[in-house]
Amino acid sequence: MKPMGPIPPYFAGQSGDLRIAGRSASDWVAEAGTPVFVYDTAIVRERIGQLRAALPRAVEIHFAIKANPLPAFLEIVSPLVGGLDVASGGELAKALAVKDAAHVSFAGPGKRDVELEAAIVAGATLNLESEGEADRALAIAERLGVTPKLAVRVNPSFELKGSGMKMGGRPSPFGIDAARVPALVRRLIAAGADWRGFHIFAGSQALDSDAICETQAATVGLARELAEAAGARAPLVNIGGGLGIPYFAGDVPVDIGLVGERLAEAIEPDQAYAIELGRWIAGECGVYLTRIVDRKVSGEETFLICDGGLNHQLAASGNFGTVVRRNYPIAIAGKMGIAADETVSVVGPLCTPLDRLGDKVALPHAEPGDVVALFLAGAYGASASPAAFLGHGPAAEIVA
Ligand SMILES: *Cc1c(COP(=O)(O)O)cnc(C)c1O
Repeated sequence: MKPMGPIPPYFAGQSGDLRIAGRSASDWVAEAGTPVFVYDTAIVRERIGQLRAALPRAVEIHFAIKANPLPAFLEIVSPLVGGLDVASGGELAKALAVKDAAHVSFAGPGKRDVELEAAIVAGATLNLESEGEADRALAIAERLGVTPKLAVRVNPSFELKGSGMKMGGRPSPFGIDAARVPALVRRLIAAGADWRGFHIFAGSQALDSDAICETQAATVGLARELAEAAGARAPLVNIGGGLGIPYFAGDVPVDIGLVGERLAEAIEPDQAYAIELGRWIAGECGVYLTRIVDRKVSGEETFLICDGGLNHQLAASGNFGTVVRRNYPIAIAGKMGIAADETVSVVGPLCTPLDRLGDKVALPHAEPGDVVALFLAGAYGASASPAAFLGHGPAAEIVA
């Protein structure tokens, strides 16, 4: 038997049929079929409320929409946050459908001219990832006769320790090396751009609260130094995000109370900040429900073979940025609270051994027809999985 991650507190401790957003999993699958993602937006509301209460007022909360860009989801999340951060022209269009451009910022390397132009025309902020991109944005704005809103993404000289995905402290396609930033800021201002400030993102999926606090303090300090060196005040300092959620056995949640307190000590007076989060906001609200099609024994191992797998939940299969495959939390949706009495491997229908949602996990006995619930499916699920692979088609998504 191998351990699995903790079931999120919103669903742990239930008994009988798993309830999501006030309805049972069997109701949801009767309505939408399987496989299906169900997103309980009351959970998102609750989490953003907790974070708002924990953070200093000068720090606004942004949602990084790549975590869950479903339009119906964005419609609900958008009014709850101060800004939406996007990373492509496609995401820009989705964000502008639900948010005023003044509160939309566009980061990401390799922005094409049409994407730069769309952001400039709309009045969204471009987080510039290189000097070349700065030149192209200025030229496009000049041709259009528009003042572009430009922020500078900084490649910091430090990384977020313990983060699942490090985004600083090394040569990078993301951001401009800190030493080159002041000169660029001066150049943008001299060219007549509306300089919007800095974007500094040092890593993702960190659970070590002390490391997060240290990185945030270093980020605040770096922004101050860069602004001084540039001789300009930053209208907004986006300090990145990086707050992780517990996916695996032994993971503990970030102490957002501590993060808020330490951030309050670190920030500069009269300076506006933003924190940009994806998975912390959206991850725990989603449950992926897939039906067991077959149950078979091979050698020593029992397999529950489901109608959905890595084609919808790539991350849970361990193939989306993890070094060692570990188990996400899983339950048999109709048997919450029933003690595990067997060890099984939960796999999807794809013709690849990679398609494993649960590796030798302890679960109560389940048969074909029963529904498996895979938690933490609200972020980097449907939109970060190869739904076209093997032609099963996309899963339904319900925003509740
Ligand atoms: C992906 C991304 C995020 C969100 O990361 P999470 O780990 O989901 O919080 C935030 N900012 C930037 C720049 C990103 O690329």
